[in-house]
Amino acid sequence: MPEPQAISLEAKNPFELRVKLGNDVPEQTVREALATGDMGFVHSFTTGSTVDGPGVRVVAWTTGCMWRCRYCHNPDTWTLSNGMPVSVARAAEELGKYREGLKVMKGGFTLSGGDPLMQHRFAAKLLAAAKAMGIHTTIETNGYYGDKLSDAELNSIDLVMLGIKTWDPARHKALTGMDVAPTLAFARRLAVRRQPIWIRFVLVPGLTDDMDDLARTAEFAAGLGNVERVEVLPFHQMGRFKWERLGLAYTLEKVEAPTAEVVERACEVLRKAGLKAY
Ligand code: SF4
Repeated sequence: MPEPQAISLEAKNPFELRVKLGNDVPEQTVREALATGDMGFVHSFTTGSTVDGPGVRVVAWTTGCMWRCRYCHNPDTWTLSNGMPVSVARAAEELGKYREGLKVMKGGFTLSGGDPLMQHRFAAKLLAAAKAMGIHTTIETNGYYGDKLSDAELNSIDLVMLGIKTWDPARHKALTGMDVAPTLAFARRLAVRRQPIWIRFVLVPGLTDDMDDLARTAEFAAGLGNVERVEVLPFHQMGRFKWERLGLAYTLEKVEAPTAEVVERACEVLRKAGLKAY
């Protein structure tokens, strides 16, 4: 199956709406891609990110996510076939162009999504290719499919940016549609391996701003011993247009970004548990 060349792999930013780029890929080819990881489905590559891991990053945004977070700002990445089919060789070649620059800028490669572990074979191969080029590797994931990576494959990952949404199981289910337990199990596995984690926590007024709930998350994270920092990400409305364009029912139109005081209060809860929080 030839890869489409008309659409650039590189997007200006992940907020670019991209849909149906992989619609023409036959079902059998999709199945083989998922099984072998020789081909993946990618929303886009972005370069020059300073918020997706240490230093300056090249980020590959894969498609496919099994969660349905009510505040997701990239719902076009939920569907695998919205991404363009890219062979692992081409993705690695693209990455190789930035190899030296990334080293100079003390940055690296981040595999994000969607959830990149929806395509765990592709993720494992691309991260191994990056590591083999001497590039610092980060994966940004909700961790639900963390058990799909072997210990040897985890060795190709220098940093895991793990999205923890909320502690309470019922609240988590209502917010994401999925259970929180696999994410926490993945965090524990990484802790046993002493593999660094940065936690990403999206602060959404009325949904995730219960400070007692956050204190439970903080206690868990601090107890792991491998959480280097927690990033508190204030909710924003930048992804709303995607929900509307995709015909999805957006439920947060009346929710405003948290105030600086509430963000600081959340950081204090995390710091009180002994974590670095920004
Ligand atoms: S896990 Fe990430 S990509 Fe998936 S729905 Fe939630 S915010 Fe969106």
